[in-house]
Amino acid sequence: MSARTLPPRRPQSERRHWVFLYRCGCPFGLVELSKFYKTEDDAWDGMFDTRSEERRARAAGVRVEYVDHATYSRDFYPRMTQDCTHGGMQQ
Ligand SMILES: [Zn+2]
Repeated sequence: MSARTLPPRRPQSERRHWVFLYRCGCPFGLVELSKFYKTEDDAWDGMFDTRSEERRARAAGVRVEYVDHATYSRDFYPRMTQDCTHGGMQQ
């Protein structure tokens, strides 16, 4: 569930990501568009191991933003490795 940096498989300008955010807006996870992850539902499946984890996250207000790589780098990446201090999934 941690942020991972994968080697780019396509030009940066063509990369797209689903960024997972806690209710407070802190980003905690990332799924990159690929042949394995083509839809937001795929991204949820990639981020959570089980349906019950996924349901728990949704109930806790976790949401997803679909962004291009430039937006991710600018708006989310700097906060990706900082721990959420607002309760995260606990709320
Ligand atoms: Zn937070």
